[in-house]
Amino acid sequence: MKKKGNILIPVFNESKGIEEFCNLIESVVPTDSYDFTITLIDDGSVDGSWKIIKNLKSNLMNFRKIKLTRNFGHQSAIFAGLENNEEDFVVIIDADFQDDPKYIADLINKWELGYKVVLARKVRRNGEFLKKIYTKIYFKLQNKFTQFTIPKDVGHYSLIDLSIVKSLSDLPEVNKFLLGLRAFMGSEVGYVDVIKNKRRYGNSKMSFKQLFNLSIDGILSFSTLPLNLIGGVGVAISIVTIFYTIFQLLNTFFNGGDFNQLNVNLLGLLFISGLQLFSLSILGQYISKIFYETKKRPAFIIEKKIID
Ligand code: UDP
Ligand code: MG
Repeated sequence: MKKKGNILIPVFNESKGIEEFCNLIESVVPTDSYDFTITLIDDGSVDGSWKIIKNLKSNLMNFRKIKLTRNFGHQSAIFAGLENNEEDFVVIIDADFQDDPKYIADLINKWELGYKVVLARKVRRNGEFLKKIYTKIYFKLQNKFTQFTIPKDVGHYSLIDLSIVKSLSDLPEVNKFLLGLRAFMGSEVGYVDVIKNKRRYGNSKMSFKQLFNLSIDGILSFSTLPLNLIGGVGVAISIVTIFYTIFQLLNTFFNGGDFNQLNVNLLGLLFISGLQLFSLSILGQYISKIFYETKKRPAFIIEKKIID
């Protein structure tokens, strides 16, 4: 019997390219050697993507078509696909041609060598200059804050073995962050070098704000270092303030300096108030995470599921 592979595609308003993309996948994956299922997760598209998805057919591959009740976001769409997986491995790939499906065969070859997780490592990225810089800074910070390393130059494009997919699905947390959790699993990781293309149709569906929120999510979900930082900064400020006060007192005593330097003190006060508010906001961020996790609301809700 042939081994089974699942190609998981989150879809949000990709009506222009989704059919062409599925055809492209069909033409490049080794359908002779594996039984493939394409899982399409319609993440609340409003441009008729679901209509197109519903009509997709293939002689060489199966389809699992899942429609979420509304837009739950990239991460939730991916986890909806992972939690519905029944195949031996899952390849996660974006619908916009940025991840080139021609590398899927290489990912599978690595999996056959025994790697439970195979990551597509971007050796070159065409376009998106600002995003490149942003991701660079993000990965630097993320890995400073996290005890295990989240591989950089790697996105969602990857192959994950069934055993790891199960572990990921079984994690009780609601707000799941794939890049972090995939690394958290700590299994043997293989790499395939890829060139990332430009999006072929439409614009990015992830606004900069969403990207920013995602990276904050990534850092806060895997590290409490920001909380400790607040303490560190607080102690540092206290020490500086003590020395500054002693210096002022001595200055007044010996040199007749003016202890009542209102401006300087006011600036100091403003500075510290700012820091306090900043610290409070970090606390708030963690509390809001706890708030949402304790509700145990599902990360996605499925409206329809079609097996073709
Ligand atoms: N996507 C999704 N839900 C969203 C936003 C995006 O399922 O809320 C899908 C989108 O259709 C694409 C993938 O996630 O297949 C990545 O999105 P996009 O290419 O817009 O992100 P970028 O590559 O710009 O980070
Ligand atoms: Mg994209």
